[in-house]
Amino acid sequence: MKIIPIPAFDDNYIWLIRNGHYAAAVDPGDAEPVLEYLDRHGLRLAAILNTHHHGDHTGGNEDLLRHANAPVFGPRRENIPAVTHPVGEGDAVKLPGLAEFAVLDVPGHTAGHVAYYGANSLFCGDTLFACGCGKLFEGTAAQMYASLQKLAALPDETDMYCAHEYTLANILFAKTVEPANADLVQREMRDRQAREQGLPTLPSTIALEKATNPFLRCEHPAVIEAASRHAGRALNDAVSVFAALREWKK
Ligand code: ZN
Ligand code: FE
Repeated sequence: MKIIPIPAFDDNYIWLIRNGHYAAAVDPGDAEPVLEYLDRHGLRLAAILNTHHHGDHTGGNEDLLRHANAPVFGPRRENIPAVTHPVGEGDAVKLPGLAEFAVLDVPGHTAGHVAYYGANSLFCGDTLFACGCGKLFEGTAAQMYASLQKLAALPDETDMYCAHEYTLANILFAKTVEPANADLVQREMRDRQAREQGLPTLPSTIALEKATNPFLRCEHPAVIEAASRHAGRALNDAVSVFAALREWKK
């Protein structure tokens, strides 16, 4: 099994999970680059997986289905065109010959947002980003924080595939929060080099996120201190620290 990034729009990645003659597309906001890749490599579309309802993640569903008949998995609590298999926490998504994923509810960015975890890989849409996290469009800080904690509890070695290339901007913010974090400084060098070569900074890993992502570090003294300084008051619980960071990041 291989996982291929298909760049779309300005900074989206559509992740293609491929094996043999089959491939599944995660969050196909646009059908065209996916169809082009499938065609060029002689692959058949086996499934579509959506993490949430935003158009940059779902806009290609119907066009893809015009070219192939495939199941479309998406969050049960959201209304997404063409979803055939609504899923939620505890469900399993079985893609024969490709992989099997567990569905996790991760509300916050949107109310019904889900993530797919399996084969040592996590597809988390706009919930966890490399060195950052999604904006709170439909959820509360407490919900998002709990969702991020759920993802942080996955095994350290899990490869994390988020849906946008926001990493360098996220690192810039992370450095204003934790300028003395050596892992962060090292990460910046590595990811900057990747971007200079036109390569994705992804996948990340859960271990790297726990070491460098301020939104997963709301219980570390340096992060609490920086968030409190920014908020102008002492923040003494993780959700308040998270909310202050989310507010600060804009
Ligand atoms: Zn989104
Ligand atoms: Fe998005």
